[in-house]
Amino acid sequence: MKQLKTGTGKHESQLGFRVILSTLYVLVVLVRSYYMRRGGQSDQTISRTREERFALPLLAFINVLGTIAGFVYVFAPQRTRWATLPTPTWSRWVGVGLGAASLPLFLWTHHALGKNWSLALVTKEEHTLVSSGPYHSVRHPMYTAIFLQSLASFLLSANWVIGLAGLGTSILCVARVGEEEALMVDEFGDQYRAYMERTGRFLPLVNAQAYVFGPLIEGATP
Ligand code: SAH
Repeated sequence: MKQLKTGTGKHESQLGFRVILSTLYVLVVLVRSYYMRRGGQSDQTISRTREERFALPLLAFINVLGTIAGFVYVFAPQRTRWATLPTPTWSRWVGVGLGAASLPLFLWTHHALGKNWSLALVTKEEHTLVSSGPYHSVRHPMYTAIFLQSLASFLLSANWVIGLAGLGTSILCVARVGEEEALMVDEFGDQYRAYMERTGRFLPLVNAQAYVFGPLIEGATP
């Protein structure tokens, strides 16, 4: 009883958050496996990057660690007390909100990329440049969804091992973006360069200057 009063003890008994976290995991895996079957495998790829040799195995390793930590948290939370941070309950609810927000974006990006999607950085035989839907103003919305999921699972679980795994995944996503864009420029040339001009990497470009000064400058031109 005494234990229930402490921050960690209180959270251990919160079955709801554990159910929500496992639901998030299950939905992410369902989306991924569905789109993998629909052409996400890299068998008809024509161009691979060197990223695969180092970053992809590391990403896989971090994901395995995160998944084990997630399983232990969901099924044996009493074993994770050493990794539990004394966060307030509201931050767990913020995690629920972020996780819920990430799912439609995650699904939408997979749907928009369709057969162009793959885990590894590759271009395929009939690769097309997707610049609509979530790709209209953002170049890497799937990674944005992954950042949200990582943050969501950390806040939801208040478990720093899960947090570190999410941080590792996010860092690897950020680290691969340069190589990914170089690959896209190789494949699509000026079309991708122009696309880069009008889009943001992870969030839409907010060109506040254009809003504020645009009309003034326009007015000043003869
Ligand atoms: N970085 C993107 C996609 C991640 S999936 C995002 O976060 O939304 C990685 C694969 O998507 C890469 O192999 C790359 O070939 C492909 N890809 C990335 N951007 C693309 C685009 N705009 N159109 C088509 N394929 C793209």
